[in-house]
Amino acid sequence: MAERSYFDWNATTPLRPQAAAALQAALAVSGNPSSVHAEGRAARALVERAREAVAALVGARPGDVFFTASGTEANMLALTPALETATERRPRDRLLISAIEHSSVRSGGRFASDATADVAVDADGRVDLAALEQAVRGAKRPLVSIMLANNETGVVQPVAEAAAIVHAAGGLLHVDAVQGAGRVLCDIGALGADLMTLSAHKIGGAKGAGALVRRSEDIHIADPLIRGGGQERGMRAGTENVAGIAAFGAAATAAQRAVADEAPRLRALRDALEAGLRAISPEAVIFGAAAERLPNTTLFGVEGLKAETAVIAFDLEGIAVSSGAACSSGKVQPSHVLAAMGLAPALTRGAVRVSLGWTTTPADVEHFLAAWRKLATALSKGPGIAA
Ligand code: PLP
Repeated sequence: MAERSYFDWNATTPLRPQAAAALQAALAVSGNPSSVHAEGRAARALVERAREAVAALVGARPGDVFFTASGTEANMLALTPALETATERRPRDRLLISAIEHSSVRSGGRFASDATADVAVDADGRVDLAALEQAVRGAKRPLVSIMLANNETGVVQPVAEAAAIVHAAGGLLHVDAVQGAGRVLCDIGALGADLMTLSAHKIGGAKGAGALVRRSEDIHIADPLIRGGGQERGMRAGTENVAGIAAFGAAATAAQRAVADEAPRLRALRDALEAGLRAISPEAVIFGAAAERLPNTTLFGVEGLKAETAVIAFDLEGIAVSSGAACSSGKVQPSHVLAAMGLAPALTRGAVRVSLGWTTTPADVEHFLAAWRKLATALSKGPGIAA
């Protein structure tokens, strides 16, 4: 089989070699991190080393990192009315979430649906700060959730500006940094986040590990999602996924070291891909192109294209991309992100997401463009891959 080109890094990344080595080594450590004997202490040491590495990635203290089984779980843990600070123990009365959040945030966590409201985004896919200001004014003790970067468009959100608005209104800010961490600067203090979600498998770790990070010990979740043995200082019961956590730590360190080199290289490759795309299909629309975006992400649409069919056609050409539309239980739904940006379904039905990562080469970009040239020619000739 010809070489494949993987362009779906926002769905998941391959393991970084350092993470694979850490995973392998940790599998040989048999102890339970809660046990006091030598075997247990060896496992505990792996978990605590990883906690330091994950904390370092986002400029937090290790004691403020709580491991979970996924980014989804960390989002669910964070989004609760029982989020307290040292000076405010009354329940959060309102959850405000941007209209482009991942479905795990869109679910509203543990807030009642009538206590949850959306904050609009502009046509470029950035949170509308005036709408945020108005929304926080209508709440007493809001919790606001805004992602660092969107998983579909890659648009980086004005998180620090949003934090200033939220805090001025007595609110707290949760930031889903699953797509931004390891790709753009992600410092919990500089961003002004009170809580931050991370996921291992988006930065080169293994699937099945995530973390919720808090700004300081001033932030407290009074109703942990999973109770039992008191692991993770009572915030998340259940014996730790030692190998997954060790790999997460190794991936965090590698990502932190690599980001300064990787970001400009990926941006250059992504820009070359977009230039090629526009040359072949001048009518193609690159969503969010006017905003600051992750260096690795392109989401584009062409009227008449059906994204699910395009994904299959690309796959047959040896290329893994994804459709911009979220696919749940086998049914392709229109993208809520593109709908929130006010885009017409005729265009968004054909949204294809191309996301790059550290193994992507110029040859992969050429491979993609050759495949797109074929698809675009087929599209211009008739219904084949059209909607
Ligand atoms: N948040 C964002 C922005 C994501 O893109 C994803 C995964 O696609 C998640 C949360 C969920 O992370 P996990 O796959 O670890 O549950």
